[in-house]
Amino acid sequence: ASKDCVKVAVRVRPFNKRERDAGSRCIISMTSNSISIQDPRNSQNSRTFTFDYTYWSHSGFSRNKDGLFVPEETGGRYADQASVFLDLGQGILDNALQGYNATLLAYGQTGSGKSYSMVGYGPNKGLIPTLCQRLFQSIRSMQDSRQCQVFFSMLEIYNEQVVDLLSKSSRSAGGLRVREDQQTGFYVEGLRRVPCDSALQVEQLMEQGTRTRTTAATHINNSSSRSHMLIIVQLKQIFSKECITKQSNIYLVDLAGSERQRSSGSEGDRLKEGTAINLSLTTLGNVISALADMALGKKIYIPYRDSVLTKLLQSALGGNSRTVMIATLSPADICYEESLSTLRYAERAKKIQNKAVVNESPTE
Ligand code: ADP
Ligand code: MG
Repeated sequence: ASKDCVKVAVRVRPFNKRERDAGSRCIISMTSNSISIQDPRNSQNSRTFTFDYTYWSHSGFSRNKDGLFVPEETGGRYADQASVFLDLGQGILDNALQGYNATLLAYGQTGSGKSYSMVGYGPNKGLIPTLCQRLFQSIRSMQDSRQCQVFFSMLEIYNEQVVDLLSKSSRSAGGLRVREDQQTGFYVEGLRRVPCDSALQVEQLMEQGTRTRTTAATHINNSSSRSHMLIIVQLKQIFSKECITKQSNIYLVDLAGSERQRSSGSEGDRLKEGTAINLSLTTLGNVISALADMALGKKIYIPYRDSVLTKLLQSALGGNSRTVMIATLSPADICYEESLSTLRYAERAKKIQNKAVVNESPTE
């Protein structure tokens, strides 16, 4: 098994309208691998963090005729979707093709750019669609005799319930069950796995899943800030001459907003949310902290079983996976507290050590 740490990237987006209207000041600055954040009430007080990748996507862009955000022609240093994919997405894809499990998580407060980075909007396609597009390109251009199968699943975790976003019937029954397999770990029972053979098909499934997510969420106030979205791409490669099969799971996770949740809706919902909505996110934080301590040599219990999200991400966190986290930030002074807490969280994640192995077995 190859030991390697979780790779962490940070990305700062442009001001949004609210921030521009409020006359916000940018409190984030970056040099090659480090990022600094300034306390807006005390300019002497600034903190610097170092990460594997830092993306300045705050300024220096223009929109071309296709609506793409691209670096300005004269020296803009805007990190666009393509350059983020090249660093983060391509590695995930290469790992998966070699038979490793791979995970990509987006963490940050609501409105900071998680979905923009993971899924994208319009022509500005994010990591997931581009990764799938390249995956099918790689499969089509393979020179050897291996056979590839790709399966796509999409689910949501809300209030510790798992909802299959690609199935119409799963909503009623109070969610799907998470079960444990002695060999492969936790999985969602009865989750739909759709065989795919093109990027277009994947995009249609993602649209379908996103529609299910938003229509079902009319009673929740802004579902994406409160629920986690998980896409699982399974790649099975059958090498018929060698009689071996390689399997890899790619987990692509758009986490709920990291801000402290304010409740809305009915009293019952509020009570439930208080205990459960953030249980997954809180537990993720606890798991990450525990793993960071373990990397320092402490013997410590890792509370994977405390939430649905951490059960499903068990192998991604300290286990058999190559894992990348992208932490997204607002540039604005008014988001100082949240941005600082995101950076601290990301710093802890950096310490996690995984042990990835190629998932290879004799073809049955
Ligand atoms: P989140 O998913 O974290 O709640 P979004 O990804 O929906 O946030 O982003 C909020 C808004 O900011 C969207 O309108 C999005 O287009 C814009 N945005 C986010 N990141 C970037 C970026 N890197 N470059 C340009 N616009 C961005
Ligand atoms: Mg979002």
